[in-house]
Amino acid sequence: MAESPQLYALALGSNRPLSARLTPKRLLHAATTLIGKQARVLAASPILSTPPLGPSARRFANGALLVESTLPPPAMLAFLQSIENELGRRRYRRWGARSVDIDIILWSGGRWASRTLTIPHAAWRVRGFVLTPLLAVAPNWRDPRTGLSVRHLHARLQKAARQG
Ligand code: ATP
Ligand code: CA
Ligand code: CA
Repeated sequence: MAESPQLYALALGSNRPLSARLTPKRLLHAATTLIGKQARVLAASPILSTPPLGPSARRFANGALLVESTLPPPAMLAFLQSIENELGRRRYRRWGARSVDIDIILWSGGRWASRTLTIPHAAWRVRGFVLTPLLAVAPNWRDPRTGLSVRHLHARLQKAARQG
């Protein structure tokens, strides 16, 4: 199992430029390039600019990737965290400004639950900034918890937003 290819759907976010040149959007492109060194990037969404959630005042850039890798989930998480660190992430308060955040949303093996890693990601079903990019790379992937596809979850959230 460790050597067989695993598929992952990843959500990327940035709401803090690292420098005048390294804007959130460019940071997500840089993260994608680094991810590509260890995993095969099968699809990359367009990058969205979305309003912030929580106390941060800046806009977010968000994107999603579909990747294939032989890394099992804990090694994938460690690899993604090394990229966050390489791209200047510091441990600010949760939901505060950060240069790059990479979350594992879905995994081809279904569920994973440990102290440091929960797959599917705990909050993705109600986050438009995750579901919208994900729709571009993995519309038919089914959530192992609810059995609903990404397309269905996205439509459900849009409908809930319209109903206010
Ligand atoms: P949220 O998870 O609500 O989006 P966040 O991304 O801001 O919040 P972080 O500070 O980046 O939270 O991560 C906190 C911890 O979450 C990480 O150290 C990691 O161990 C854990 N974690 C649990 N499940 C996942 C997952 N599916 N993907 C990434 N990190 C995860
Ligand atoms: Ca996150
Ligand atoms: Ca995270």
